[in-house]
Amino acid sequence: MECPKCKKGTLVKARDDIVVEGVKLVAGLEVEKCDRCGEVVLTVEQASKLRAAAEEAGIWGHGIRLKRKVSRIGKKWALYIPVDVERMLGLRHGRRVEIRVVGKRMVVETEE
Ligand SMILES: [Zn+2]
Repeated sequence: MECPKCKKGTLVKARDDIVVEGVKLVAGLEVEKCDRCGEVVLTVEQASKLRAAAEEAGIWGHGIRLKRKVSRIGKKWALYIPVDVERMLGLRHGRRVEIRVVGKRMVVETEE
């Protein structure tokens, strides 16, 4: 299957750790991962299982944490947003977001 993000890579089976708020919810989960950009695509079933595990661990609401590498587009730094996050937040082209820096954290919040 073609990668929904970069459109160039192919989704292949891979194992990934799902870490939320420093708690490893699932180790070595079999996910579909792009062989080119590293995008991880969770199935609806996996996403709801992770949600249940996060609720059980009392950390739901803090969000699913996925590791990403910072890329460079021309002279600027870029972070690709996973498709799952895009869907959760209802992101679309031109939607405004607010970026705050809190210590070592960068918080990106969608504006209403
Ligand atoms: Zn890709």
